[in-house]
Amino acid sequence: MQTLYTYVDFLKGLVYMGTYITGDCHGIFEKLILFTIRMDLKETDNIIVLGDMGLCWRKNGEDLKKFVYRWEEKLEKRPYLYFIDGNHENFDLLKTFKDGIISSHIHWLRRGTVSYFEGKKCLFIGGADSIDKFRRIKHLSWWEDEQITQEDIDKCPAEDFDYVFSHACPYSVFADNTAILGDPHFAGEEFDRTSEEMLDKLKNKIQFKHWWFGHYHKDIDLDDKFCCLYNNWKELL
Ligand SMILES: [Zn+2]
Repeated sequence: MQTLYTYVDFLKGLVYMGTYITGDCHGIFEKLILFTIRMDLKETDNIIVLGDMGLCWRKNGEDLKKFVYRWEEKLEKRPYLYFIDGNHENFDLLKTFKDGIISSHIHWLRRGTVSYFEGKKCLFIGGADSIDKFRRIKHLSWWEDEQITQEDIDKCPAEDFDYVFSHACPYSVFADNTAILGDPHFAGEEFDRTSEEMLDKLKNKIQFKHWWFGHYHKDIDLDDKFCCLYNNWKELL
């Protein structure tokens, strides 16, 4: 009997597929590498990063090339790595990749992408406003493409989804949770919340069961619908 269980477990291990979500990386990919190795992830598994991947950052793309080599060539096994854009991405570089395909196992899910993971219908919409853009330099450390536009919202079909993945959260959610999501370093200052306001339009346009977002550098389930992720991992079920 013991042998049978072991064999069944072995088979389950062969066919098990998982999709795992985490928050901002900012170009530091150790958590992705360590999670992949520790969880023994393989090609049948997926990782989704909720923006601020920071993979496309330096103009010459050297850091990008290094990570792609590490992921595609140095890892013994690798899952598919998907990410949405945040407000810390070099959009000039990012947009050079046709259909968002960076390499065979690394894909950028562009705004308005609808796809299925674990049999669940998912909508992806990156983008957010940088609260520190006043101290960054255009086309070097800041890109206006970061902001969500009406055109982005128009790309999202008015349908029912199981899951929504975004970088920022809808403004109504932010406003109800400012004490948790707001950055104390910038307390009391006025910021551009255009992207969050755009996401409110999306929230009113679609139906959804659960909404995942990053950006605020917090790990917290705000309620039974909205979850903010930073360093934690969640499995899509
Ligand atoms: Zn961030």
